[in-house]
Order: sequence, then C-alpha cells, then structure tokens
Amino acid sequence: MSENTGNGFKREVLEGQVTVFQTGDSGDAAYVIESGCVEVLVGSPNALSRVAVLTQGSMFGEVALLDHQARTATVRTLVPTVLVRIESTHVQELLQRADPVIQYLLRILLERFRSNSTVVPNDAGSHVEPPRVPDNVAPAIDLHAAAVRTLSLAHDLSNAIDSNQLALFYQPIIQLADGTLAGYESLIRWNHPKLGLVSPDEFIPLAEKTGLIHRIGRWVLQRAVRDWPALRATCGASASCRPFTSVNFSAPELCSEGIAETIESILAEHHMPAHELRIELTETVVVSSIAQITRVIERLRRQGVGFALDDFGTGYAGLDYLKSLPFSCLKIDKSFVQHMDSSPRSWQIVQAATVLSQQLEMTTVAEGIEDLATAEKLASAGCVYGQGYFYARPMPLPEAVHWASGFVQRADP
Ligand code: C2E
Ligand code: CA
Ligand code: CA
Repeated sequence: MSENTGNGFKREVLEGQVTVFQTGDSGDAAYVIESGCVEVLVGSPNALSRVAVLTQGSMFGEVALLDHQARTATVRTLVPTVLVRIESTHVQELLQRADPVIQYLLRILLERFRSNSTVVPNDAGSHVEPPRVPDNVAPAIDLHAAAVRTLSLAHDLSNAIDSNQLALFYQPIIQLADGTLAGYESLIRWNHPKLGLVSPDEFIPLAEKTGLIHRIGRWVLQRAVRDWPALRATCGASASCRPFTSVNFSAPELCSEGIAETIESILAEHHMPAHELRIELTETVVVSSIAQITRVIERLRRQGVGFALDDFGTGYAGLDYLKSLPFSCLKIDKSFVQHMDSSPRSWQIVQAATVLSQQLEMTTVAEGIEDLATAEKLASAGCVYGQGYFYARPMPLPEAVHWASGFVQRADP
C-alpha cells in the first residue's frame, strides 16, 4: 500500500518479507525507514550475503539515486515495515537549483565513494561499475568550470570595491504622458580584470551568500546619492515632474541592523531630499523577513523615501505585499512589456497592473520598452513612467549626462 505525503515523498507500507529493490534495478528513489527494519544483501542472486540490517530512521538507496547508476545491493524487509520513498525527480529538481560548487563537490564525493567502496551498507556492494555521466546532468567538465568560476568570483568580489572595479550605470526613466526625463535607475556593473564585465544577475546572488552585499549596497547608495546632483540637473523642470533616482536593494541589505539610520545619514550627508530617492525591492526581498522589512519601509516612507515593488507579476505574492506594505510605485516587469504585442494576456496584465496602481494611489514604471509603439501604447493605458533600450541603455555617469543633453524633452517649451 502506498500514499502520497506531498513534496515528492510517498509512504509505503510493506507487510512481511518484501524486496524493496535488487541489484541491477535503476536508482529511481531513496528510502527512509519510518518503522520496521530491512536487510542489505550483496552478491549474486544465488549467493546473497547480508552486509547490514537497518532500522527506524536509517536512509538507504540514496547513492544510486544521486549518481543515476544501477543498484549495487538488494534490500529486503525483515518485518512489516513502513518506508518513506523520496522520488528521484524531486531530488534532481533540488540539485539543479543548488549552487554549482555544491553540485561539483557532490559529484566528486560520489565518484570517490563508488571507486573506493568494496562492501558498503546501503546501496553499494562489491561490484562497482565505472562512474557514468547520466544524460540529464551537466557533464563534469561544465560543473567543474561553473564551480571554479563561482569560487573565484566569490574570492575576487571581496577585492572589487577596494580595487575600483565596481561601477554604477544609470538608465533614464521617462514620464510617458509628456516625454520628460523624470529620473534614473542605478544599475551596478563589475569590471573584472580578467573576465570582463560580469552581470549583476551573476554576482549579486553571490554577494548575498557571502555577506559582501552589505558593503556593496552601501557603496551603491553612496555613489548614487553622490552622483544625483549631476543627474538631477538633466531632469525635466515641468510642474508635474518630480525627479528621482532609484536604487535596487537585496533582502539581506534591507534586513540588516541599522539600515534605516544608514540611509538617513547618507541622505543627510549629501543634503538630498528623501523624496528624490526611490528604493526598488523584488517580491523575493520582501518575503524573506516581512516584519523587519515592514518596520524599515514604514520608517523611511515617513521621511519621504519612495519604495517600488520591482518585477511585479513574476512572483506569487505581489498582491499580498501591495495590500500590506506602503509601496509608492509598481514596476511592471519587462517580460510583460516585451510581449504586449504578441500576447493579448500580457497586454491585459499590463493594463490591469496600471489600473491597480492608480487605485492604490501608486505610480507605475514599465521596464523593457524597446520601441516607440510600446511607449505610446503604455502611455495610452495610463502607465506613468517607462524605461528601456528605446530611450537608452544603462550608461556611466558622464555618458548619461551627455545623452541627456541631446534628449529632446517633449514638455520643453
Ligand atoms: P532589474 O532591477 O529588473 O533591472 C532591470 C534590468 O533590465 C537591468 O539589467 C537592465 O539593464 C535591463 N533592461 C533595461 N531596459 C531593458 C530593455 O529595454 N530590454 C532588455 N532586454 N533589458 C533591459 P541588469 O543591469 O543586468 O540588472 C539585472 C538585475 O541585477 C537587476 O534587475 C537587479 O535585480 C540586479 N541589480 C542591478 N544593480 C543592482 C544593485 O545595485 N543592487 C542590487 N541588490 N541588485 C542590483
Ligand atoms: Ca530594478
Ligand atoms: Ca525587472
């Protein structure tokens, strides 16, 4: 008898003496003994010898599951036994999401385990086949390269700030209704001495894991606030235009002790009005520590700092956060904006997000605008701001100032 317990687990109730698997079977699951006991046997079918008896709480069958090889032992129950079966597909999903260093280390361990073991209780037996690369797993060489890259990036990143390898680029944000230049989003860049430009999508998660994100975040904020006067001077001067600069924050940054005070003191040091700073957070940031983040957002909102919910529509909990947190802006993810023409659903989602933000008295920024038609369509839907390659890519400060000097603001007299 078997029943699903959720999360890729299945409970199997086995009466009497039952073979769970035998030598040569495919390693499609691992098992934990919930009650009862099993024996582990190795050798040929006619001359099996017992190498272990496993009882409640033991796991078996995990080696073949992890390295996709055939079973090298036979396992039989000795008494009525309840097993929790862990499906291979579930474990593979977890492994594919794991850090490349962990994937690589696991692979090395498994290969060593297989080639060193003679008689091992659990899965392995005296017969050891040479390791085989399963079809659906990245070849060892790729895993090795990815692991080495991750390790060396993590090491090099710690020098990046002091060696001036980080830079802040600025992408203009346009007020769609009248074409004025309203502000900029600051986006970090890492100029690695050997590897060239490394994407923030690659090194920000690494910085979060190593704790370097706190130094990086402080550097970004200080640089963005320091550069703001030069950029502010390029923004539109119409009555409806309230210029701002946006910075992206990660979860650990916003949860760190004293972050609100740090932001306030950086603003004060540079005499920057709080309402000209906007902090962009993704849903994943918010989800990690809702109570602490709520306190920080509420405190800074009272001073006037704006908060944008970034990548809206890509996660699960966006609406929930809009209900409970005082966001002042909603950023519509580029995955919707870029498919507005080809996908009626994307267009409907963009329209619905715009209406929703109006009703909640928030502004909207659409990112990823790559042509005039998209900009016009967004303006007609009531979306307030837009950014994208159609206007400009993210640029270093001098280039952004130069670009702005040639930008024709439609609202200019
Ligand atoms: P994001 O906050 O969603 O930033 C928007 C991304 O879309 C940027 O990628 C930007 O260059 C890109 N983009 C802008 N317009 C267009 C367009 O028209 N077409 C296309 N295809 N792409 C466009 P980028 O600069 O590579 O940044 C990636 C992500 O890294 C950002 O996504 C943000 O989550 C993170 N990030 C960047 N800078 C920082 C930072 O200073 N701190 C933190 N914590 N995260 C950052
Ligand atoms: Ca952003
Ligand atoms: Ca985004």
